[in-house]
Amino acid sequence: MTFRTRFAPSPTGPLHLGHAYSAMLAHDIAQAAGGIFHLRIDDIDQGRARPAWEAQILDDLQWLGLSWPAPVWRQSARTPRYRAALEVLWRRGLLYPCTCTRRDIQAAASAPQEGAPLLGPDGIIYPGTCRPARRTGPLPEDCALRIDMKMATQAIGTTQFTETLHDPGTYPVTAAGMIGAVGDIVVSRRDMAASYHLSIVVDDADQGITDVVRGQDLFDATQIHAVLQRLLDLPTPVYHHHRLIRDEAGKRLAKRDDARAIATYREDGKTPAEIRAMVGLPPGATAL
Ligand code: GLU
Ligand code: ZN
Repeated sequence: MTFRTRFAPSPTGPLHLGHAYSAMLAHDIAQAAGGIFHLRIDDIDQGRARPAWEAQILDDLQWLGLSWPAPVWRQSARTPRYRAALEVLWRRGLLYPCTCTRRDIQAAASAPQEGAPLLGPDGIIYPGTCRPARRTGPLPEDCALRIDMKMATQAIGTTQFTETLHDPGTYPVTAAGMIGAVGDIVVSRRDMAASYHLSIVVDDADQGITDVVRGQDLFDATQIHAVLQRLLDLPTPVYHHHRLIRDEAGKRLAKRDDARAIATYREDGKTPAEIRAMVGLPPGATAL
């Protein structure tokens, strides 16, 4: 099997040092393994994605010396694929429509008898208000869909994923952990064909991605991806969650942090080699 990895930026802001590190590391690792590095555009959130950001990101990545095969996949062009995956889950009775607002969820989760709301990788763990909703008929199109995590994990039993960088090992994904610490996450939104979790899992499988290289901040999301992969009968890639690039104060870099945008460094006359050195990458390719 060809080693394939990818960098999947969302075109909602400039490419900053943290993204550049992620992309260069993935590119290096693919090169060292004799594999392929793919660039993919995560523009599922059409309300926030901008063509100008996409163009700038591509330009910055090329300037950094990265290359990738054409065509570049765009999530916005793949909505029928996500719909098909949702259909599979819906027909198995694993999804339910949710009409709660953020405020409803906050209120239900912080009701006095509930104590402080529990947080999962997707924010507040959904209190289950809409769980009894109808699960028959055609796939609903006009509301958010949540996955019934209890039923979903019962359907697959324990699954697992392997991680090599952050804290190397094989991680079991259990029903108890998913129900208690993740809950019924959203897989499709009213204004978005699919959530990040569902779209990324379908994309990785369809593109034959064997190795996912991404930031440590997504480590907790990986268990969700492993569950979705099992439910949809898709392979689970090997995960390599890398350290995060922080500013001098130790804070994670944010999208709006223009000071660390690659475009700003370019304007200041920095070279790609200097960018590599800044994030601690040796010259030339790095193997895992
Ligand atoms: N578009 C996602 C992001 O920018 C990709 C995350 C991933 O690699 O799974 O965070
Ligand atoms: Zn709801």
